[in-house]
Amino acid sequence: MLLPAVLSDFVGLLFPRVCLACQEPLARGEDHICTSCRAQLPYTDYHRLPTEQNPLARRFWGKLPVQHTLSYLRFQKHGRVQHLLHQLKYRGQQEVGRILGRWYGQELTEAGLRASFDLIVPVPLHTRKLAQRGYNQADSFAEGLAAGLGVVWKAEALRRTTYTNSQTRKNRMQRWENVETVFEVAKPELVRGQRILVVDDVLTTGATLEACAAVLLAAGALEVSIATIATADR
Ligand SMILES: [Zn+2]
Repeated sequence: MLLPAVLSDFVGLLFPRVCLACQEPLARGEDHICTSCRAQLPYTDYHRLPTEQNPLARRFWGKLPVQHTLSYLRFQKHGRVQHLLHQLKYRGQQEVGRILGRWYGQELTEAGLRASFDLIVPVPLHTRKLAQRGYNQADSFAEGLAAGLGVVWKAEALRRTTYTNSQTRKNRMQRWENVETVFEVAKPELVRGQRILVVDDVLTTGATLEACAAVLLAAGALEVSIATIATADR
């Protein structure tokens, strides 16, 4: 039974016990994501592949050294993963990030990867965006992964800034084009000498994660790895 979105949102408010991936009612003992969805989610299993066979790792080759390039799920348009990410990013369902993070963290631990990371750092939102949304969707994933892996996470390590070159007078369009989002390490003492796992909700081109990894390495991080909830094929 698939309810129209508006109706299902309304029902969800009254009876929040529906699966956040398929919107079917949850059975007793199920928590936010039903057993059937958990069994059928499109897992990448990239952590089981040798690095040279990991298609995500290839996106960073020749750019900067990334130790582990991990993504839990494959993003598919109109599928369960898109629905879960939408709930996490726009519907305040931070539990999605925590649960998927915990599951993934447990899997990575079973695969022997726990000892590969000292610190988990979520990709930050700009403070203005954070104020609008009220939360950073990468934080809950970081929190879940931290619990599943038994590794600490620190949201305050990185900061997102907007850089505008104001040296010359520009028209509105030029100003727009000149605004770049950049990251900086806000707490160098947290990252120096550490093996850091940078996490975000989605990896598409990899440019955002690459920018974060670059500033962390420049600030003295020993290694940088990457993990996202989902990855989109290119
Ligand atoms: Zn489900």
